Amino acid sequence: MLLLCPSCRVPHKSEAMSQTHRIILFSLWTLISGYAEDRVRDLMSRYPLIDGHNDLALQLRKLYNNRLNHINVNNMSNIATDITRLHAGHVQAQMFAVYVMCGAQDKDAVRLTLEQIDVLRRMCTEYKDFELVTSLRQKIACMLSIEGGHSIDSSLPALRMFYQLGVRSMSLTHTCNTPWAESSSKHHTFYQKQNNSLTSFGKAVVEEMNRLGMIIDLSHTSWGTAEAVLNHSKAPVIFSHSSSYAVCNNDRNVPDRLLKKLKNNRGLIMVNLHTDFISCKKEANISHVADHFDHIKKVIGADSIGIGSDFEGAVRFPKGLQDVSKYPALIGELLRRNWTEQELADILRQNFIRIFDEVEKMRDQLVWERPSEVQISMEEVKNPCRLVLRPPSSSCSSPNRSQLCTLLALVLLLSNLILLQ
Ligand SMILES: [Zn+2]
Repeated sequence: MLLLCPSCRVPHKSEAMSQTHRIILFSLWTLISGYAEDRVRDLMSRYPLIDGHNDLALQLRKLYNNRLNHINVNNMSNIATDITRLHAGHVQAQMFAVYVMCGAQDKDAVRLTLEQIDVLRRMCTEYKDFELVTSLRQKIACMLSIEGGHSIDSSLPALRMFYQLGVRSMSLTHTCNTPWAESSSKHHTFYQKQNNSLTSFGKAVVEEMNRLGMIIDLSHTSWGTAEAVLNHSKAPVIFSHSSSYAVCNNDRNVPDRLLKKLKNNRGLIMVNLHTDFISCKKEANISHVADHFDHIKKVIGADSIGIGSDFEGAVRFPKGLQDVSKYPALIGELLRRNWTEQELADILRQNFIRIFDEVEKMRDQLVWERPSEVQISMEEVKNPCRLVLRPPSSSCSSPNRSQLCTLLALVLLLSNLILLQ
């Protein structure tokens, strides 16, 4: 029924009809969209999301200098992530990135990494809504993932200690090369690789991560490094926050030929929601994001796809996907594009669970292997602050050092001769 105010004119019959049509259409649309929302809510409550990448710890460092006592993580409206909206977005598990700037490489990267692990461990234990987990055998909620191999300062013992502290994944680079792996970014020129995107020490890192049961993350690495790791790793690997290069030509995204190698590795690509990697423009919408999912599904199937939002690590996100409460809108769009409930359950969580399970099964197979004692050579690490305490025999192994040793021996001989005289 049309309700009109006394001063309004009486509508013409055809106008009244069109208004009636509009009301009917609106009611139908409300009914259908309400049904779609109910369907998404039902699906996501049965299969809550495991997201592959969130830089909340970076914001805690930048905005609050990690002073957790002074903030309330339940509600932080100035950023895209808080506990209230994680619940609204049906997020049941989050890989939180442990990230320190590339500028810390060869300086205090290890200390800063430990401090980022500390703030995440505190947050994940002090808030009752979080639970710090390190294995599939527990309820998954809050996982630690190092972003950038510079955090281990080219040390396998440091890698092992990070594992002991609960870190379960590491990307081999961020935007800087390490002495042993290559970044997709050309921003930093140090440790530039020449036809060797994964050195023998890099391979030792991959092997040790396989042995430990730590997930290897290839987001941020160069395609050459990604390919070398895909050829070398015994366990499945992930791209924790990368999208499709065929849909958006950004070097942070993954080309189809690598997607196919990832499929052979039984690995996973978790689609990044950052606007720049989605549309290659300054703006994007949910439909652009869904195009990445459709394309990757066409190339390697839905059982190799996840979601790795990159919230807090990037500045622009697609319209309608601006914070952690908005994942249902993406699932709704994929439902509209005829993704099945099984496929959506897979990308929301089942695929990640399978990967983690397979990584741990490989760890169990390698249980008899001893911790690797491979050390990087001093020539590969150009760091004057690195203190080396090694037995004299090995300290003379490099050409420069052997020259020094010869010189020292000559000086000793001469001084003995002088003393004898
Ligand atoms: Zn990143």
